[in-house]
Amino acid sequence: MKTKKVKTVLLITIIFLSSFTIFQCQPQKDQLETNLRRALDEIPVINTHEHQRSPHELPDEHIGFYHLLESSYLSSDVRSSGASGYRLETLDSLSDEVLWKAYGPGLNHSRNTSYYSHFVKGFKKLYGFDAIYFTEENVSELSNEIEKNYENYETWFDQAFNNAGFELMFNDQYWNPFNCDLNDKYFALVFHINPLVMEVSNKPAPGGEKDNIYQQAWEDGFPMMNLDDYLAYCDQLFIKNVNNNAVCVKNSMAYSRTLYYEDIPYEEAKDLFSKPSGSLSKTEAKKLQDFMFHWVIQKATEHELPVQIHTGYLAGNGNVLDNGKPVKLNNLFLNYPDAKFVLFHGGFPWTGEYAALAKMFTNVYLDIVWLPQISREEAISSLDVMLDCVPYNKFFWGGDCALIEESTGSLEFGKDVIAEVLTKRIRRGLLTEDLAIEIARGIFRENAIETFQLSKRLNQEFERMKM
Ligand SMILES: [Zn+2]
Repeated sequence: MKTKKVKTVLLITIIFLSSFTIFQCQPQKDQLETNLRRALDEIPVINTHEHQRSPHELPDEHIGFYHLLESSYLSSDVRSSGASGYRLETLDSLSDEVLWKAYGPGLNHSRNTSYYSHFVKGFKKLYGFDAIYFTEENVSELSNEIEKNYENYETWFDQAFNNAGFELMFNDQYWNPFNCDLNDKYFALVFHINPLVMEVSNKPAPGGEKDNIYQQAWEDGFPMMNLDDYLAYCDQLFIKNVNNNAVCVKNSMAYSRTLYYEDIPYEEAKDLFSKPSGSLSKTEAKKLQDFMFHWVIQKATEHELPVQIHTGYLAGNGNVLDNGKPVKLNNLFLNYPDAKFVLFHGGFPWTGEYAALAKMFTNVYLDIVWLPQISREEAISSLDVMLDCVPYNKFFWGGDCALIEESTGSLEFGKDVIAEVLTKRIRRGLLTEDLAIEIARGIFRENAIETFQLSKRLNQEFERMKM
């Protein structure tokens, strides 16, 4: 009986002590992550991938919540849920009630997704939006605020850019790939090379040049009679982009073809180019494109421009997922050891092979751009694995959005993910706090300065600000 009593007292003591220990540990745990997250807010961010567009390019006069939603990744989840939506140019003419009826069910069904949560975070940071979920009422209030801000967009953009914590954004203008004119207060030029590669096998009949590289060449006074002419004009485009301080080239071709690029001899490509494009088989057209991408890599290396490549999951609702499998690029990494290849998006869902490639090759880097928005939890678990495999000077972060609110949400989300991963690693005894901060600074800033050779540019900007 006595023994039983002693045992009970002992058990109560153990329970009390362990709950006391848990209670003691809990705030300490939270504090570590909070401190790290705060430290991340001190970093002036070099954002290595965006598609920022001026709202003046949008068809509607007034920009509200639904314009931002329709320009965001979240609109894909809304559609994926089966809900309807409207085209951008029709939004202006529709009432809030009609719009919520169309978008509300899809928004509600997407409350679990990372696209949804990161979109909310942008409004939280820039508008003080304090709800977790969108409702018909809070969206209507938010929409009025957005509309007011967009009436003075330049002022609003400047304010939001600074509030979010950005210092520089690499801007890929895929919708206007020959434009080299950017506001260098905010943006660095990205040379979008898809047209150089994809249009080599899509030569129009004489006089049929329209909105393509052939029209551009014609306007710039370059004849396009044979492959040498085509290459001479592409050479010119490289020089133009370099003269406008381009920081890298970008390939997003997985949206329309496989990432496997065979090495095609010049003579074969020359012969294929001389034929009418309409007469080329699919295999022949692919061979010409393959030749061009190899040529682009060599030129990029000559101009010391890293090559950014979309890998993995494709935005929108419907495409060929297998196109973007990262390992399809393996032959290029072997062929061009002097080129710098930056693989995008964690290669999701092939995050393991994505990490393995950067571990194997000195010339392969990882930009986790967009991965946290695609899946927060996948970003957390796969970044942890990546940090087990790959030296931390090879990582970058980008937002990949069209408007500043979503880019801001992406940055907030990206910081949360990285703080969580690094905190877990500190707790497991894998990192000191100092090293965790150094890794985060690398991902959000220092690695980009090093790999994309930005120090001269940033120093000039610093001098300009002092004047
Ligand atoms: Zn992109």
